[in-house]
Amino acid sequence: MDSAKLEHFRSLLIGQLRQHTEHVRTEQAAALELSDDGAKDPVDLSLIDVNKEIALRLGERGSQMIADIDQALLRIKEGSYGTCGRCDKPIDERRLEALPTARYDAACQAIIENANGDDEHSTL
Ligand SMILES: [Zn+2]
Repeated sequence: MDSAKLEHFRSLLIGQLRQHTEHVRTEQAAALELSDDGAKDPVDLSLIDVNKEIALRLGERGSQMIADIDQALLRIKEGSYGTCGRCDKPIDERRLEALPTARYDAACQAIIENANGDDEHSTL
């Protein structure tokens, strides 16, 4: 991949990184704010736990996303960006355009997801 393209994906990733950092912060603050709403009875108290749980999960998911972006930026630095981590073939640029953090090409991603089962989709 040439340096102009790498630079393009680098700025995409940095834009996403900013977005996610903001997003996680806002969502977490919103979920926690709901729980501060002067809850008194046990029903409200259990709602607090739910909101805290949501805030926590959003944070985890956001952190995972941020970690993925970090990894992608590191791969750009190391020169391995855009190459499938499983089969070493170049990843389709249209795929990277849609998913700049992609570590695998579509074929390998499908194989890996099948191997992992449905865990990825069961959160929240
Ligand atoms: Zn592959």
